[in-house]
Amino acid sequence: MRGLMMDTQLMISSLLRYAADYHGDREIVSRMIDGSIHRTNYRETHKRAQRLAHALERLGVKSGDRVATIAWNNHRHFETYFAVPGIGAVCHTINPRLFGEQIVYIANHAEDQFLFLDLTFVPLVESIAQELSTVKGYLLMCGADEMPETSLENVMCYEDLLAAESDHYDWPVFDENTASSLCYTSGTTGNPKGVLYSHRSTVLHTLCVMGADTIAIANRDTLLAIVPMFHANCWGTPYACAACGAKIVYPGPFMDGDKLHELIEAEGVTVALGVPTVWLGLINYMQANDKRIDTIERTVIGGTAIPASMLRTLEDDYGVQVFHAWGMTETSPLGTTGRLKAGEDALDTDTQTALKLKQGRGIYGVEMKIVDDDGKELPKDGVASGELMIRGPWIAKGYLKEEGGAVLDADGWFPTGDISTLDPEGRMQITDRAKDVIKSGGEWISSIELENTAMGHPGVAEAAVIGLPHPKWDERPLLIAVRSEGSEVTGEELTDFLARKVAKWWLPDDVVFADELPHTPTGKVLKTRLREIYANYTLPTARDQSAATG
Ligand code: AMP
Repeated sequence: MRGLMMDTQLMISSLLRYAADYHGDREIVSRMIDGSIHRTNYRETHKRAQRLAHALERLGVKSGDRVATIAWNNHRHFETYFAVPGIGAVCHTINPRLFGEQIVYIANHAEDQFLFLDLTFVPLVESIAQELSTVKGYLLMCGADEMPETSLENVMCYEDLLAAESDHYDWPVFDENTASSLCYTSGTTGNPKGVLYSHRSTVLHTLCVMGADTIAIANRDTLLAIVPMFHANCWGTPYACAACGAKIVYPGPFMDGDKLHELIEAEGVTVALGVPTVWLGLINYMQANDKRIDTIERTVIGGTAIPASMLRTLEDDYGVQVFHAWGMTETSPLGTTGRLKAGEDALDTDTQTALKLKQGRGIYGVEMKIVDDDGKELPKDGVASGELMIRGPWIAKGYLKEEGGAVLDADGWFPTGDISTLDPEGRMQITDRAKDVIKSGGEWISSIELENTAMGHPGVAEAAVIGLPHPKWDERPLLIAVRSEGSEVTGEELTDFLARKVAKWWLPDDVVFADELPHTPTGKVLKTRLREIYANYTLPTARDQSAATG
């Protein structure tokens, strides 16, 4: 017998329509690239999203077409988050920090039809435009008076496009499993892979993000999104804020401590989300200038493990509750969060800190288990560690164009590549990274790509890259190279060589030479051994940083 309830399709457009209908005056505040503050609200945003929907259709964008963005966190980017999926197309957010060649690869792989870009990125896109084989036009996210001289062809002005359209559009209702947005994850091996979210997965994830036991975003909140909109749908916050009418504050490109602090004070931010690196900048600024952030009730920190000292500083010195969260691009991204359970408030501070430093506890919608190398489930005793496997309606089941092949195991579990423990309370703690990527400021640097590039130098026989701790960026790369016979290549020459091939922020902070590298029996470089050998090695940039801050 089937239930007799409505089968309303879960549509992303319904989130913004709700916000406009019930919380029309709630603001969306953005710091623009010229530093000025822009204010709008959900009512206006809904109208503009409807104009944009018409404009996209007029450009010929059809259901399933991919439309890309290379943009900061601001109100226009927010509008594309709704208008593009709203008409049935797919919003492909591209990380501008990728190297040009990587952007070309993913834009061509995704077959992006149009590209929205903030003015900052015009030179970047100009430098690769000839290689973008599917892009038919560029939409510059600015007003007519700001349109720059550009070599890009078929360039359009965002505000002109909107001005020409009606602000009434009937959002279509279609199958909730239709693709809505696309985000590439810079994998450890092989090419970047596209994670393709659906309307259904996004709306269900939205409900989860709003949950009181997760991030608890509510109408009274003012949320500062310091996590980029090009990373995993900004942790789902644009949709969750719309779903409850929370006020949003977007910092644009200005992530320095002083600028963030100014916004927090001026706008009365109550909840802020970001990676530890950004928090470090804010804390340093507050400590040096005797500032406070008393409006902030809680913060969600994830993307990489939160350092204990940061957790204590935020809680003890600034009265901000810290929730540690774990997730991946493939998990929309919320997988676990660290809100304490009933009764745990009574525990002493050290015990509470230990619990909060774990990556978080299971939340409804994400099943978790850990397995050994043979796929056998391990006990949830907080001691045994194995690969974390997850399952749920907002977890990826494959990548765009089946890149990487079949992803799930026979029972439908997604292997995360993270090695973790699970305790009897359902808390997960990452103990190791199966992948060897280097996490710098919340962004990934692929050690394999750096190694391969370095080995392209004729003076290098073998190379390995490992991440070493860095006080500002969390981790930075160290390149360990073995010279080829007769070669006298220097670290400086190698860095110059790499600089022509990889993004600047990927460049190793130091290069050291070794006579040989340790290997596994199958001939792979033994990274674990390298990490031991260089465990006490301090990167020169880390020394400089400590001197500057200490
Ligand atoms: P991404 O797909 O770029 O969001 O990266 C996902 C990966 O980041 C995960 O597989 C973890 O390795 C790592 N990660 C995310 N959150 C945390 C966290 N709270 N602690 C430690 N590692 C994390």
